[in-house]
Amino acid sequence: MSGRHAVPRKRRSGPKDWGWQLRHAIDTAEGLDRELSLSPEELAGARRAEEAGLPIRVTPYYLGLSDRTDPRCPIRLQCVPRAEESVEVPGDLADPLGEEAHEVAPNLVQRYPDRALLLATDRCAVYCRFCTRSRMVGDGGGVVSLERLGPAFAYLAAHPEVRDVILSGGDPLTMSTDRLVRVVARLREVPSVETIRLATRTPVTLPQRITGELVRALKPHHPLWVMTHFNHPRELSPEAERACKRLVDSGFPVMNQTVLLRGVNDEAATLEALFRGLVRWRVRPYYLLQADPVRGTGHLRTAVGRGIAIMEQLQGRLSGIALPKLIVDTPRGMGKVPIGPDYVVSRQPGVTRLRTHRGVEVDYVDPPHGS
Ligand code: SF4
Repeated sequence: MSGRHAVPRKRRSGPKDWGWQLRHAIDTAEGLDRELSLSPEELAGARRAEEAGLPIRVTPYYLGLSDRTDPRCPIRLQCVPRAEESVEVPGDLADPLGEEAHEVAPNLVQRYPDRALLLATDRCAVYCRFCTRSRMVGDGGGVVSLERLGPAFAYLAAHPEVRDVILSGGDPLTMSTDRLVRVVARLREVPSVETIRLATRTPVTLPQRITGELVRALKPHHPLWVMTHFNHPRELSPEAERACKRLVDSGFPVMNQTVLLRGVNDEAATLEALFRGLVRWRVRPYYLLQADPVRGTGHLRTAVGRGIAIMEQLQGRLSGIALPKLIVDTPRGMGKVPIGPDYVVSRQPGVTRLRTHRGVEVDYVDPPHGS
């Protein structure tokens, strides 16, 4: 790992209590400048974010992972606004996944027949500068009342084909335990909902949130999966490790989605270190996501070919449990598409020629009974 990826020697994670972290989150340009001595590009971005668009919010813990002297630090790039956020590039969209067009009830999005997304709050511990939902997170609405979610629960009850609900936001784990459990319990009242996924970045940005009280309160509602979002090995702190281990030890399968981000993690060695670290914690690297074309994030996105080239380098270097699928979530909500290097050299009747990660070409001969 290069020097810029090393964990800072002096870390200021603050007290362990998650409420303290949220109460002391930095949410102004002045606050960020005091902590980090912002570059001119960061200061311009932070002042703009105070006025419009995705607001600023960074927990002291997450800020403590950053390099205070380097504006190219992978943590800073994820949480400190930059002037480039005002730049719109071709292909940019305010709602890249077409979630508003796929809203089937207030705060309920359905893009696939068997799955739905329930947006329960607009709050997060850190507002990530690449956020797909930057059009709505932190817009002041806060926690959505159970009353307002009523039509969403009614829709799920009337559509038994929906078996999997992803509870998201914002970040649902920024809600109080009591509120979170009440939403989960309401979902559990719908007999056809088999799996509930909690989409949360708190193991990364606010690991203090994963308390014994939280897991004890959620456990009766299993199966609950946790979908988290580590993007860089620098985020693999002892606090994050404790949080992930507590979840796994309490029976929550933990899956990780990494977003490929320019200057943050678009190197095979960086992702290899991240995926290996996650597997050591029993967290499954699940998706490597091509960044969505969110308006104002062109400076953080890579070309599609970059991810394919990285996967080519990682194939064979990492075992299957450490290697995520590379995914493009196609614009306007048309669905996820797995992509990757092409290992099929040719297909003839009965014989497929394949290229292995060693560069060797090998024929696979079909059995005589055909397809
Ligand atoms: S935690 Fe998730 S929803 Fe919140 S800002 Fe980050 S990416 Fe967006």
